[in-house]
Amino acid sequence: VRFSRGYRLLPRTIRGILLLLPLVVLVPVLLIAAGHFYDEFQRLRATELKANLELARSVADDFDDYLKDIIHQEFAIGIAFTWPQPLTTEQANKLLIANTRQYATIRYFSWVDAQGRVVASSEPAAVGMNISSRPYFQEIARGKEWVVSDLFLGPLTGEPTFVIARGVRDEGDTLRGIVVASADPQSLGQVVRVRRAGQAAIAIIDRQGRLVYRYPEVELTWEQRSLIEGQPFLAQALAGDEVAGTFVSPIDHRELMGGLAPISPFGWVAIATRPVAEVMAPVIRDLLRDFGLLFIVGAAASLVGLALARNITVPLSRLGEYALAVGRGEFGRRIEVAGPSELERLANTFNQMAQEIRVREEQRDTVVHTVSHDLRNALMIIQGQAQLFLRQLGKAGLKGPEMHGAEAIVTSAKRMNAMIEDLVDSARLESGQLRLEKRPVDLNAFVSDLLHRAKEAMDVGRVKVDIPAELPTVLADPNRLERILTNLLTNALKYSPLETEVLFRAESTNKEVLVSVSDRGIGIAPEDIPNLFQRYYRAKGARKAEGLGLGLYITKMLVEAHGGRIWVESELGRGSTFYFTLPLE
Ligand code: ADP
Repeated sequence: VRFSRGYRLLPRTIRGILLLLPLVVLVPVLLIAAGHFYDEFQRLRATELKANLELARSVADDFDDYLKDIIHQEFAIGIAFTWPQPLTTEQANKLLIANTRQYATIRYFSWVDAQGRVVASSEPAAVGMNISSRPYFQEIARGKEWVVSDLFLGPLTGEPTFVIARGVRDEGDTLRGIVVASADPQSLGQVVRVRRAGQAAIAIIDRQGRLVYRYPEVELTWEQRSLIEGQPFLAQALAGDEVAGTFVSPIDHRELMGGLAPISPFGWVAIATRPVAEVMAPVIRDLLRDFGLLFIVGAAASLVGLALARNITVPLSRLGEYALAVGRGEFGRRIEVAGPSELERLANTFNQMAQEIRVREEQRDTVVHTVSHDLRNALMIIQGQAQLFLRQLGKAGLKGPEMHGAEAIVTSAKRMNAMIEDLVDSARLESGQLRLEKRPVDLNAFVSDLLHRAKEAMDVGRVKVDIPAELPTVLADPNRLERILTNLLTNALKYSPLETEVLFRAESTNKEVLVSVSDRGIGIAPEDIPNLFQRYYRAKGARKAEGLGLGLYITKMLVEAHGGRIWVESELGRGSTFYFTLPLE
């Protein structure tokens, strides 16, 4: 199938087509599978984001409850401290210590007076400290009911800490004092009782964007706690919105899926995350398995395609070779192919065709033989009678137009005879009826004898022979060798001007004798050279000279029957040299 502009839709070879087939099937399957996995990814992602957001919400709720509980408790403590009957130092300390024991997450409770001085504390070292410069103290002094501070390094422990502070006021709204709870972020696991599987995590972040608590618990430096400060997703949650999405962890740079929920009204944020890699692992495993299977199927189909293609192309190329052999006239062979039945049928058709051609060839040979035999008989009579006539004319002394006429009849009859001989010979050579009778031949003697005998038929005076005296004898059928030489010499004389010389040379090389016939005649055009030795081929310039175009064809077949090679070198207008080789004795 071709597009009009010459684009090909299908590959050119059977192999290409068979390899295309699995591709045609696999590509849509791959696309469908890819679509399926994409949906699966999206579905998993949505589920995971939702789960994380829900978890973040519930962590936020737990934490919210926890803070409110402490704030309530602080209210109760505040009432005890502002009772009209003041507590003794011992009572005050006892009260604070007892409360601290109630909360695993609180390091100590303190009672601070309106000027910021720690009056009593469950931690004796804190008593006497002045906290009036702390932001949470100032906020309460300015009128806020309670404050949860951001994370800071505690002055007593040097550890990260945060405080939950509540102011206590009288009816006139005058600040009487502040109850301060110093919390230990490390122990918040007691409050946020979430246990997650795999590498999933939760975290609590303060208003500054500092990491207060993380599950699974890890040792974090102050710098690491500050890392997520300023992250865009966090900023949005700190502003009070719920957020769910994929983001890169600022701590270990892994891609995470997570949900963020604000912890109102405190302004903190709860986060729940799971690494994307962990969420997608099962899908990716399935994907690799499915694509691996598809790949194996594709490879197997391609292998089968290759095998099938071989099954077709091997018999096809054998059929091609067979067709060429039939073209060369090798009718004796039959072809059997093992392959698809269509090809077997084709092979049978070929055999049948070869058989039919063979019958035709045989018929043609028979015709050529009978025709030439009968023609020759008639010619012989014409030639004989013309020669008789010629002699009688000579005796009678008639040398005028009668004599010319009789001579013309004799030469024409001879030429015709030569042509018939060519036709018969070529038919015989083709049908393989040629039997060589080889014997040792001394080329020197052979050529001079040949030229002597041919005096009548050709212009031997123009032929110059150059054969070294010590040339080894060759192995040849003398009759056929004579034919080869006569053909080449006749051509050389025929296709060159009368006054030029024809050079006959022979020399021995390693295993053979190289014979050449050179003329200084019209030469042969380069485009004719490849066809010169074909049957009935005549170069354009030679049409005027008589001939059938069979001479060189026969010559070549004879040379090859001797086990030699023949070729020509020629230049238009300069002359030609025909070479052939003969095996040594
Ligand atoms: P033909 O009977 O035409 O001579 P050949 O088979 O002997 O047939 O030669 C085939 C053709 O080769 C000739 O027609 C001629 O064109 C060319 N040819 C052969 N020998 C020569 C030569 N010595 N010089 C030039 N052309 C030649």
